[in-house]
Amino acid sequence: MAEEYDFDLFVIGAGSGGVRASRVAANLGARVAVAEERYLGGTCVNVGCIPKKLLVYASEFSEAFDDSAGFGWTVNDRRFDWNKMIANKNKEIARLNGIYETLLINSGVKILRSRARIIDAHTIEAAGERITTRYILVATGGWPTVPKISGGELAITSNEAFYLERMPQKVVVVGGGYIGLEFAGIFNGLGAKVTVVHRGEIFLRGFDDDLRVALADEMRKRGIDLRFQTTVIRIERRDAGVRVTLSDGAVVDANAIMFATGRAANTHGIGLEEAGVMLDGVGAIVVDRYSRTSAENIYAVGDVTNRKNLTPVAIAEGRAVAETLFGRRAMSVEYDNVPSAVFSQPPIGTVGLTEVEARRRYGEIDIYKANFRPLRHTMSGRDERSFMKLIVDRKSDRVVGCHMIGTDAGEIVQGLAIALQCGATKAQFDATIAVHPTAAEEFVTMRERATA
Ligand SMILES: Cc1cc2nc3c(=O)[nH]c(=O)nc-3n(C[C@H](O)[C@H](O)[C@H](O)COP(=O)(O)OP(=O)(O)OC[C@H]3O[C@@H](n4cnc5c(N)ncnc54)[C@H](O)[C@@H]3O)c2cc1C
Repeated sequence: MAEEYDFDLFVIGAGSGGVRASRVAANLGARVAVAEERYLGGTCVNVGCIPKKLLVYASEFSEAFDDSAGFGWTVNDRRFDWNKMIANKNKEIARLNGIYETLLINSGVKILRSRARIIDAHTIEAAGERITTRYILVATGGWPTVPKISGGELAITSNEAFYLERMPQKVVVVGGGYIGLEFAGIFNGLGAKVTVVHRGEIFLRGFDDDLRVALADEMRKRGIDLRFQTTVIRIERRDAGVRVTLSDGAVVDANAIMFATGRAANTHGIGLEEAGVMLDGVGAIVVDRYSRTSAENIYAVGDVTNRKNLTPVAIAEGRAVAETLFGRRAMSVEYDNVPSAVFSQPPIGTVGLTEVEARRRYGEIDIYKANFRPLRHTMSGRDERSFMKLIVDRKSDRVVGCHMIGTDAGEIVQGLAIALQCGATKAQFDATIAVHPTAAEEFVTMRERATA
């Protein structure tokens, strides 16, 4: 690589995508620098997937305590200490930040603890210096947005929810995406009274309709107040919190209102437009299949490109860019069959097409469904059902969608994603021997078509 630049690759943002791209590029021999203005590991490690899942674990204990009675347990003196949980969570995140730092240093990546800005296609300003680079990778992620409404400044987002000084006893969660529903489950499990406000007819747009309905049922059974086709029109400060006025005239008093209504790409004020990088209508960076922007030597990965905003996707894109630039061949990411989970209670796991998408793409499809009471709840007495669904392209017999709501759905669907990626047919699912007794075995024992 020519030495006319200070670095071969300058990465802006040490989140999921940026860290992976930096490490892979450095391991391929490139001279790499990464600038991070806030925290190593980015959203996922600091205010996303990881702390979220830790909070989900914390909140699941209340159900476990309740359920244990049917198995003979008596659990006395249940108390939850929010501050202890947050402190332990923060300790774990600090440990992970350290691991990210070590990984980067061990790969030979130079870390600049600074905001970075593009000056021109080959120059970056960071840590008070001008640094030249052959390639630039923008991996700046996204940031939660709160709509402009009266009192909007009183609302929190997921960012603040992870650091609340006190556990709110009454919470309004606005938004029907996975983040809002996960937090609704967290606060509910920890003992708060939760109201979910969503403007659509039902939440989780983009997920299979059966899952959306099933999750709404389960959340209601847990006492979560779901208000669909409703928006927040005003928030006012009240002594112990906020008063929230909804579009149907209803008023809800709460200690906190959390907006999870969307995230915007971090593309402002970093010199993108000036460097000729095109943005789309919502401010995300437009890229081709190799994550190259409209500026020849500038690439972008992860949430800032608003493709599939998930950590493993950002990681895959980061790796692909590094391989394309410094490896032996150009590499792109395959977006079909990206599995994902919603860590709601109960959780959702999904891979492949929804029924609606499959009908649109294949025309003739077969649907298989299983709806059952999990074995555990035959003794716990909990009124909870698990639901699974397989979608099969009739012509090829290929399974094109697997969907589940129930315990461990995310864990189960990860395995199924491999089968879908390999193009497994329904006959091959049927020929697979079950693991018994599990919930997962339903996926290989569904024989009856739900629809002709
Ligand atoms: C509450 C929540 C829960 C989530 N749960 C999941 C989950 O369960 N599973 C999953 O797959 N995904 C989850 N996600 C999504 C996941 O966190 C993101 O898809 C992922 O972090 C995107 O990685 P990224 O590299 O694009 O950006 P990020 O991880 O956001 O990293 C971007 C980094 O760039 C830095 N930066 C920005 N601008 C600059 C600048 N100018 N100079 C220097 N540094 C800069 C930021 O400080 C940040 O550290 C969740 C997100 C949230 C908010």
